[in-house]
Amino acid sequence: MGGLTPSQVVPRNFQDLSRRRTARARALATRYPASREALEFCAEIAAFQQQAVEAASHPDIESCLNFREALCNLVREKGSQVLKQAAESLDESACREALYAYVEQVDTTSARSFFARVLLQPRVIFQGAGNPSHIDNRCPHCGHPPQVGVLRPEANGAALTLVCSLCLSEWPFPRSQCAACGERDEKQLAYYSPEQMAHLQTQTCDTCQRYLHHIDLSKELAAVPDVDEIAALPLDVWALERGFQKLHPNLVGI
Ligand SMILES: [Zn+2]
Ligand SMILES: [Zn+2]
Repeated sequence: MGGLTPSQVVPRNFQDLSRRRTARARALATRYPASREALEFCAEIAAFQQQAVEAASHPDIESCLNFREALCNLVREKGSQVLKQAAESLDESACREALYAYVEQVDTTSARSFFARVLLQPRVIFQGAGNPSHIDNRCPHCGHPPQVGVLRPEANGAALTLVCSLCLSEWPFPRSQCAACGERDEKQLAYYSPEQMAHLQTQTCDTCQRYLHHIDLSKELAAVPDVDEIAALPLDVWALERGFQKLHPNLVGI
């Protein structure tokens, strides 16, 4: 079976990252009532992942299974109806199957894949910034699609990086290009940013009908990209109503 090589499994800064994600999700839940439920669930998941890392002795896929039951219990208590239902049929062998299906990108979007992503994520946070010359719409470390873009101020405007939907690695990507299909024609690309969420921006592509949220760090330095992406729920509604599809669903399934 395919899987993660030992050099890829470095939960080095995961504790710190988890604390930041949990605190940020709670802060944003107060600020954005429309996304509150999703953000509160995100905070629970980030806190759960932190505990799972602290208790882990062998950082491999099989050890993820040790936390299956605790995650199912958390979902039974706080999860959506869809996730609760998926938890009911997630025995050990189903969970193992889901973990490998996620790693191999056979299933990264179903309700069952949620459990795999939560369990895998603490084990795939990689060291280093990756290969800076890598220009691709797939993560240079694990090959998974991006979750969100991050804009950082630079001499001539802003530089974009993409954040991996699984291992949260970042890599550079051209700012005016669709991260789903590679479209560069600016007439095909559009941007939307509501006034009350100025640091969040949605890039839509008329060629492939996909969209991706960008987080502008120049407007909100404290942002934690994958968490702020969940706060962008009203932008998801905006994009979906216009017939666009998200490049990849986030941790809470939006
Ligand atoms: Zn990755
Ligand atoms: Zn596109």
